[in-house]
Amino acid sequence: MSRKKIVAGNWKMNKDYLTGLELISEAVYMIKDELHREVTTVFATPYIHLSSIQKLIATESNFHVAAQNCHHEKAGAYTGEISAEMIKSVGVEYVIIGHSERREYQHEDSKLLAKKVDIALENKLIPIFCIGEKLEERETEKHFSTVQSQLEESLFHLTNDQIKNIVLAYEPVWAIGTGKTASPEQAQEMHAFIRSVMAAKFSEEIAEDMSILYGGSCNPTNAKSLFSQKDIDGGLIGGASLKSRDFTDIHIAFNEL
Ligand code: PEP
Repeated sequence: MSRKKIVAGNWKMNKDYLTGLELISEAVYMIKDELHREVTTVFATPYIHLSSIQKLIATESNFHVAAQNCHHEKAGAYTGEISAEMIKSVGVEYVIIGHSERREYQHEDSKLLAKKVDIALENKLIPIFCIGEKLEERETEKHFSTVQSQLEESLFHLTNDQIKNIVLAYEPVWAIGTGKTASPEQAQEMHAFIRSVMAAKFSEEIAEDMSILYGGSCNPTNAKSLFSQKDIDGGLIGGASLKSRDFTDIHIAFNEL
């Protein structure tokens, strides 16, 4: 099984130019020194950092940079937007698509997200595609159907070759930035469900090889119990990715597995 272990930090709209460089330098140094397993680290930074941070980590094989979004069109009169091609042109390899904050505040729906996935893949970016239910959906037992629809509507048009280049991130919306984490059992149950949905649509082999990350108040204290679950292949980390010590400690949870 060639499933990649990934820890991705989503900085959101945090860190100016200098404090961003400081954070990266510290985190890379500490992770290299303390992590004793093969884990891929991704820093999803604001756009202003992409080029310089990409240069900084270019020679480090397990460190990568991600954009937090891209536009769904190739180019044109879209003031304030950034294209997949531009992101790729500075050497960036990943892009987050479908984060719940963009679904909520920018009203990004499944159809639009499908176009973003397409243009990201066309430009050889690896989408980290986020899915997850809101609190009321979990409370009314609609969490599985919600996540299934999100997968169907944005990813089911892809070919088997294309889907192999997607990383999934299950992020229950009620756990993001709230300090309320899904229990390892709740997360494992959903990750296994996601894998079964992907197996039924694509293939068992593709589903087995797919990295599915957990996101939602993951921190140094709960990382080990989450990452030890069979279908959890790492994390998408928000708040805790802004402190090099916490982000490193989340990585080194893998040392003990
Ligand atoms: C996120 O924004 O993807 C996230 C998981 O945030 P946090 O870790 O702060 O809950």
